[in-house]
Amino acid sequence: MKAFAGIDLGGTNIKFGIIDQNGDIIIYRTIPAFAADGARSLLERLKICGEELLLYCSDNDLKIPYLGVGSPGTVNSDTGTILGHSPNIPGWEGTEVARELGDYLNLPVFVGNDANLMAVAEVIFGAARGCKNVICTTIGTGIGGALIVNGALLTGNTYSAGEFGHVPIIKDGNDCSCGLKGCLEPYASAAGLLGLARELGSESTSAGAIEKRLKKNDDMTVKELFTFYKKSDPTSVLVVETQADYMASGLAGLVNLLNPEIVVIGGGVADAGGVKYIRLIEKFLKARCLADSIKSLRVVKAMLGNKAGFIGAAIQREELSEAG
Ligand SMILES: [Zn+2]
Repeated sequence: MKAFAGIDLGGTNIKFGIIDQNGDIIIYRTIPAFAADGARSLLERLKICGEELLLYCSDNDLKIPYLGVGSPGTVNSDTGTILGHSPNIPGWEGTEVARELGDYLNLPVFVGNDANLMAVAEVIFGAARGCKNVICTTIGTGIGGALIVNGALLTGNTYSAGEFGHVPIIKDGNDCSCGLKGCLEPYASAAGLLGLARELGSESTSAGAIEKRLKKNDDMTVKELFTFYKKSDPTSVLVVETQADYMASGLAGLVNLLNPEIVVIGGGVADAGGVKYIRLIEKFLKARCLADSIKSLRVVKAMLGNKAGFIGAAIQREELSEAG
């Protein structure tokens, strides 16, 4: 039987598995990445994952055309070499992942950027199935982005397209992890959202849920913030609406530029916020877009969750235009 195998490399875990041609998961496993041990150690762990996948395929008569890998950072997806520095993986830049892993496993190996591959998964099997013009974004520790334009993934001139978190939204604004100022990420990521809660909570004179937590010096999680929001706690509503409007501002630029049919929003913050939060972003987004850009625009939550990375890695060489 034809199947696809993929590995999704994260700073904390390596997720890997096999899917069939309908996108149904045959096996799925997670092991710790120990990324701080550096590039060589990480490559050895990827080899172990690859061997396990190949063994499973041969034991179960599954035929895979290649092994796909998703990696954080900028990746030359034609050669499978890591181009960009990854702060969580010392020495990762310059690693020839496709060549090293391919030689070891004696199988073609393809490597792509993880955010791009999540979008590929959502287009082939998920929320954007069959769509040809798609904006995908994930809101979590960082803000990820990927663009599908006229049925093809946009990789850009030097493979770094789709860095949505680093779209500037405030002139001379807050410091961003990339070294620039005023990017979307410090305002709308999970940390940005909790920062807004602290800022607006300490300015507030009412005695709501956030103010009580700040008084006790208690840390708050994104999940808790959305629990308060869903109970209509006034400061929590203000915090979430402010962050959603930052997201909408960034997205509106992309929508007016690219005229997509669908915007897919995933990641931990979107999961915590649920459909109510996606509708809020949609409302602010549509208010900031040209009428012609949003005639049939849909704004939806990602469907494949934290498995999108390994699924997208597994099917990264499949034709997006045949999706659906
Ligand atoms: Zn930035």
